[in-house]
Amino acid sequence: MTDDLRELYQEIILDHGKRPRNLRHPEDANREAKGNNPLCGDRLTVYLKVGADGAIDDVAFEGRGCAISTASASMMTEILKGKTEAEAHRLFETFQEMCTSDEFDAAAHDIEDADAIERLQVLAGVRQFPMRVKCATLAWHTMNAALEGEEKVSTE
Ligand code: ZN
Repeated sequence: MTDDLRELYQEIILDHGKRPRNLRHPEDANREAKGNNPLCGDRLTVYLKVGADGAIDDVAFEGRGCAISTASASMMTEILKGKTEAEAHRLFETFQEMCTSDEFDAAAHDIEDADAIERLQVLAGVRQFPMRVKCATLAWHTMNAALEGEEKVSTE
């Protein structure tokens, strides 16, 4: 990664960490789950409104956490809006792999989500810091739990 790119990624994370998007509790949400990362102290609740057709009409979150967990939740809400449940599951799995595997090859993944994967790349730098991987993936684990009908998820 070039220094310019690293700096840009840093800026995007700081911006989302400071001014999180979709930090609210939608009244018409029909799925929700709480996520807890005791190692860092990140706690959040993810709310989803899933339509009868399986499309995610709205996604938001509330909670407190470090800049990485907040930025990741904020970016996730932007990426998932308008996706289907199946796409959200696939993105969750892809993002997990991006954050944990050095061999992740974006080009080998579903082209349909090239845009989302490019955006997630910003956070995938955490794989160099294993403690931070849990911060970056907490919102995604929580979103996945909400879709699976589980109320709570912990990274422990
Ligand atoms: Zn954290």
